[in-house]
Amino acid sequence: MGLPAKRRTKQSKRERASHFALKRFTLIACSHCHRRIRPHTVCPHCGYYQGRLVMKVTSKTEKRAAKNKKARGAKEEVADQKKEGKK
Ligand SMILES: [Zn+2]
Repeated sequence: MGLPAKRRTKQSKRERASHFALKRFTLIACSHCHRRIRPHTVCPHCGYYQGRLVMKVTSKTEKRAAKNKKARGAKEEVADQKKEGKK
């Protein structure tokens, strides 16, 4: 492991650290729903980017309903298979 040739002074350490602070990110208005979003990103609220729909945004309740429907479908399939097996 290399050792630093000279001790770093308080001033040089602090001067370097002056750039460490995090900068506040900028927000712009979405062109479709006008909510505040990060620039150059797909709007997480409506799924639009540069005036085009590029991503389908589903709400939590919609996702849950789809999941339940899928699970119910799988259960019915298993039940049907059992019935067929008994016959
Ligand atoms: Zn939007």
